[in-house]
Amino acid sequence: MKLYMQKRCCGIIAVICLVLIVVFVLNGCQGQKEKNDLPAASKSSFLMDTIVSMKVYGEKPDKVIEEAFQRMREIENEMSVTLKSSYIYKINSNPGEPVKVDSDTFRVIRKAITYAEITDGNFDPSIRPLVSLWGIGTENARVPARSEIEEAKRLVNYKLIKLDEEEKTVVLQKPGMGIDLGAIAKGYAADEVRRIFKKHRVEHAFVNLGGNVLVVGGKPDGSPWVVGIQDPRRERGSVMASFKVKDKAIVTSGNYERYFEKDGVVYHHIIDPKTGSPARTNLLSATIICDDSFDADALSTSVFVMGVDRGLELVESLNGVEVMFINKDLEIILSEGLKNKIKVLNQDFKLVGNDNDEQI
Ligand code: AMP
Ligand code: MG
Repeated sequence: MKLYMQKRCCGIIAVICLVLIVVFVLNGCQGQKEKNDLPAASKSSFLMDTIVSMKVYGEKPDKVIEEAFQRMREIENEMSVTLKSSYIYKINSNPGEPVKVDSDTFRVIRKAITYAEITDGNFDPSIRPLVSLWGIGTENARVPARSEIEEAKRLVNYKLIKLDEEEKTVVLQKPGMGIDLGAIAKGYAADEVRRIFKKHRVEHAFVNLGGNVLVVGGKPDGSPWVVGIQDPRRERGSVMASFKVKDKAIVTSGNYERYFEKDGVVYHHIIDPKTGSPARTNLLSATIICDDSFDADALSTSVFVMGVDRGLELVESLNGVEVMFINKDLEIILSEGLKNKIKVLNQDFKLVGNDNDEQI
């Protein structure tokens, strides 16, 4: 069975079009006798602006799945930028006012600010004014005038988000500012789903939130999960490479996720806060593999903005984090720890910078 994800491109008139499959879990154990004949259940549902799927092996898997979906709904209700009842909506609508938030929202904003610091502002949770100006993924997508970009850019500065640890309040220090957790909230949700799996002693499971994949353990037969990477040029579901993992988060950011084209130029949804425009880094996608989805999500967006050289430098400076880039020349660039671990399935893609260029 092959499971795949599609991400929604949502217009103002609520036209839903399914557009994205980023990372797949290739569940190759069909037909095999599963460990201890464990009960298994799976479910897919639309949530957090994407399709979420999961599969759980263990006792009462349906109950575990329901609890996991309930938790994701809770996180969405807290952190959505568009739901009027969310804490983020409240913060964005009350600049200058300390807004009390729940502990989830506080943690995610704090983590996002940490990544803004680590990446010298290439990742910036105060990106909202630029995201709404470009409107990518909505009916209002357009190329703004330079003056509009400059104006919105002045409102993007994570240093003007002030947190009060004691009071659990958040203040935006400039009118017009806005927080957008679209690059990190799904990662947090995936880790929370894992926490629920562990609470119920689930040892084999995966969850896929529109390309944010997290696998628990290996497959029930003891072998690793096989994760496929989306071919950035092809229809959703085309895998160009795969690798084997246990207990990892795998998150891809790609220029094909949400975009529009004008005069032959592709304008995608990942914005470089320094230019105020979609990041121009010669990349089609960046995939991060590490222990926690929270980090993988923030980092995949970060390194997509930073590009190969600075992105690799960042990843190599962090423990237990690996990256796979695909550039516009269809070259695959890997961090040290991934070398010789990737199986390239489509020979249009070439591994570069590997010592022996071995393709497994
Ligand atoms: P992802 O798909 O995880 O790479 O996240 C992309 C989403 O994060 C976009 O749709 C925006 O909502 C938001 N975003 C865009 N650019 C940035 C950035 N430079 N830093 C933080 N969030 C961003
Ligand atoms: Mg991200």
